[in-house]
Amino acid sequence: MKVLVVGGAGYIGSHMVKALHADGADVITLDDLSSGHADAVLHGQVVRGSIADTALLQRVFSAHRFDAVMHFASFIQVGESVRDPAPYYRNNVLNTQNLLEAMLAHGVKRFVFSSTAAVFGEPAYTPIDEKHPLAPINPYGWSKLMVEQMLQDYRRAYGMASVCLRYFNAAGADPDGELGERHEPETHLIPLVLQAAAGRRPHITIFGDDYDTLDGTCVRDYVHVTDLCSAHLLALRRLTAGDAGGRFNLGNGEGFSVQQVIATARQVTGRDIPVRVESRREGDPARLVADAGEARRILGWAPRHADLAAIIRDAWAWERRSSP
Ligand code: UDP
Repeated sequence: MKVLVVGGAGYIGSHMVKALHADGADVITLDDLSSGHADAVLHGQVVRGSIADTALLQRVFSAHRFDAVMHFASFIQVGESVRDPAPYYRNNVLNTQNLLEAMLAHGVKRFVFSSTAAVFGEPAYTPIDEKHPLAPINPYGWSKLMVEQMLQDYRRAYGMASVCLRYFNAAGADPDGELGERHEPETHLIPLVLQAAAGRRPHITIFGDDYDTLDGTCVRDYVHVTDLCSAHLLALRRLTAGDAGGRFNLGNGEGFSVQQVIATARQVTGRDIPVRVESRREGDPARLVADAGEARRILGWAPRHADLAAIIRDAWAWERRSSP
């Protein structure tokens, strides 16, 4: 099994390369290293370049016979996508189409796509299942939904099988301590909280404590990065068995508020974590919790690191390695 991992030097992609290698696959990473790190790719060859580069795609697909492609390379910041949508549509939609066309040109017909809970927009109900209306409230969410739509049409017209995995809040780090989250700038809650615990930041800022939730702060469904990887392996197995694919929500079905995350991080680290409350961040729904029943039933997904303290413990071990 030979798999092209686009964005394999990024946070989730690098964990995926490790998981694929452990599963016996031959992995090639394609990454432009605009936000990823070459030293995070623990196995296989790294091709440095962008899916914007159609000539490069032509070379990569001519040099290898891939059984499948997994695509993790996209811009992910909601607020930035509102202020400056153009790069989001260019990179997340148009460049992804380049990739799909290169696949078609070379007869590669299995695709696993990193999608997001942002395709749902403001929840009409929670937990969110796959029947929930699709109504993004920011360009980031729209860019992912557009690719989902493209994949549905490509499946029907060209027989390209694909699975879209909608991550809720990816978090945690490789339990072996080899990999972790290294966004620059970091915008995600758990690594920021742990940087505050480590003294690398003076405090953590809470974006709004006036939401209609148990303590007024936003509630999210945190899912361990290695559990996301196991869902990708199951999706790949399904596609390899001849299935046409589908769309699945990935989360643990349990929501934690920002305050609860901070309290759990205090317990795990034994450190004081100073907090400041500021105004709401634009585009943040109050509560996002997944109903991942379909992933469990159809893919056979069984998250093994669902406990929030366990997720934070792995992220903390990584934080301490990277900032002793
Ligand atoms: N958040 C926060 N302070 C921060 C970063 C995030 O209060 O410094 C909140 C954010 O408003 C959201 C939750 O933490 O409610 C998770 O945010 P994150 O950016 O980690 O993921 P997202 O939900 O945007 O995918």
